[in-house]
Amino acid sequence: MKKQKKFILQEKEIPTQWYNIQADMVNKPLPPIHPATKQPLTWEDLAHIFPAECSRQELDTEHRWIDIPEEVLEKYKFYRSTPLVRAYELEKALDTPAHIYFKNESVNPLGSHKINSALPQCYYAKMEGTTNVTTETGAGQWGAALAYAAKVFGLEAAVYQVKISMQQKPYRSSIMRTFGAVVTGSPSMSTRAGKDILTVNPKHSGSLGTAISEAVELAMTTPNCKYTLGSVLNHVGLHQTIIGLEAEKQMAMAGEYPDMVIACFGGGSNFGGIAFPFMRHSILDGKKTEFIAAEPESCPKLTRGVFQYDFGDEAGLTPLLPMYTLGHQFKPANIHAGGLRYHGAGVIISQLIKDKMMHGVDIPQLESFDAGMLFARTEGIIPAPESCHAIAATIREALKCKESGEEKVILFNLSGHGLIDMTAYDQYIDGDLQNYSIPDAEIAKNVAELEPIIK
Ligand SMILES: *Cc1c(COP(=O)(O)O)cnc(C)c1O
Repeated sequence: MKKQKKFILQEKEIPTQWYNIQADMVNKPLPPIHPATKQPLTWEDLAHIFPAECSRQELDTEHRWIDIPEEVLEKYKFYRSTPLVRAYELEKALDTPAHIYFKNESVNPLGSHKINSALPQCYYAKMEGTTNVTTETGAGQWGAALAYAAKVFGLEAAVYQVKISMQQKPYRSSIMRTFGAVVTGSPSMSTRAGKDILTVNPKHSGSLGTAISEAVELAMTTPNCKYTLGSVLNHVGLHQTIIGLEAEKQMAMAGEYPDMVIACFGGGSNFGGIAFPFMRHSILDGKKTEFIAAEPESCPKLTRGVFQYDFGDEAGLTPLLPMYTLGHQFKPANIHAGGLRYHGAGVIISQLIKDKMMHGVDIPQLESFDAGMLFARTEGIIPAPESCHAIAATIREALKCKESGEEKVILFNLSGHGLIDMTAYDQYIDGDLQNYSIPDAEIAKNVAELEPIIK
């Protein structure tokens, strides 16, 4: 039989609805609550900072399928479907009987999956009469996607970029500015939150937490301005299900169904995006797929965090969210996978972990780059440092299959390419990268500061 490597959908086969897993979850996620009153928030509350439609989607536990607006679908078709690829060369290098597939979300002009949610968020903001959007960005993929989507729908974008990432990846700021966004390194002196953080620690190198604080503050103090987020929240994961819904059709073209679905994990959007459509069959049809989220060893909220209400940002301006968290004051090491340096997991994911529908694994930085190098040298694609974590977890599983002789079908999401991250690869090749493990005491100290709302 002729080997087929790549599976692509015709334009008319591209899904026209997103999948809302909240409708099918046995235990629904706990609601976000107001930090002062501890009362559950309504979508109207959330709509003070987010677009109204995103706020409704955030709390929607009812509608399983949500129509993708025509205008968004049209923009999706610029780069979708994305290819599903059988990684024959990687399989050969690992000498594994496993069948390894990856969904390639790096093949759009912005280079990561983030664009899948940036487009609908900007579309809804525009439809609702918003003129400006703000956001935070770590490594810069979300900021780049948002800057582009804002331009597409005629909005002004202000982006707070984590300062350390801005220094590590200067080209991402250039990309955002090319699309017309105003980019500021966080923590900055331009907001109250930024000033407070710098007063305590003038050398603070920034985190997603600090950047979120600043972007939320700007949105709250600017008329006609909405805040957008590229991960963590339910509506972001919802938009990303386009990945898994396509992959489901493409796996069927390949005549297979995954035994394992793997993705790297920052706040959970690309993981949820690829996993939820398959998890639907685990919930409804009794499929036995294993779902693995690969997080960095230096930011292990899934495996070593606590399940508790916590803030989404460092300054404590957001609603309280029920999540697996290392505490919002947790300062992750400056690993190159900037998009994975976040202290908490999304609300849906946190509930799914609690319900043992999925689990996390911790990947040391060096192992992630070992994996990325092997992938580059076999499949010819240089993966984003974040995506390297998914590849490392995949390689672990493929090697277990080699041991046991099992011919498992593994599907992982390649969330982005690493072409703007070549300094990281240079440092790896020169032997200048290191692992960062965290002592239990440090985690314990941070989570001890959380108010114990979930007993
Ligand atoms: C942002 C990002 C991630 C992490 O975010 P999730 O919401 O967990 O998906 C992973 N990979 C890439 C390439 C990213 O840009």
